[in-house]
Amino acid sequence: MHELSIARSVIDLAVKNCLDNGHTAIEKIILSIGAASGVMPDALSFAFDVIKQDTIAAGAVLCINAVPVSGVCSDCKGEFASCDGPFIINCPHCDSAAITVTGGFELDMIEIEVK
Ligand SMILES: [Zn+2]
Repeated sequence: MHELSIARSVIDLAVKNCLDNGHTAIEKIILSIGAASGVMPDALSFAFDVIKQDTIAAGAVLCINAVPVSGVCSDCKGEFASCDGPFIINCPHCDSAAITVTGGFELDMIEIEVK
C-alpha cells in the first residue's frame, strides 16, 4: 500500500513548511490527485488519518481534488476528459485509439492551512 508512504511524505512536507514559517499546527491540507496517478484517494485519506497522529497535523483535514484524465486525439484533434477510470483507451469522439493522455498524473500539494 504505497499510499502510506505518500501520506507520510505529504505530512512531512506540510509539517516542515508549517514549522519553517513559524506556525504550530496544521488545519487543512489540500491535494490534487489525478485519476491516472495510481493513488487511491480513499486509501490515502485512511493512511493520512493514521500517520497524522502525534504530529502537528493531528487535527488536520485532508481534502483531495480529483483531477480527471484528459487527453487529445491524434485523428480528430478532439480533446476530452474523463473521471470514469484511470485510463482512456479510445477517443470518445471518433473511437480512435491514437490518443495522447495529457493530464491526470498529478499528485500535488495545493495548499496548507495553518494556525
Ligand atoms: Zn478522435
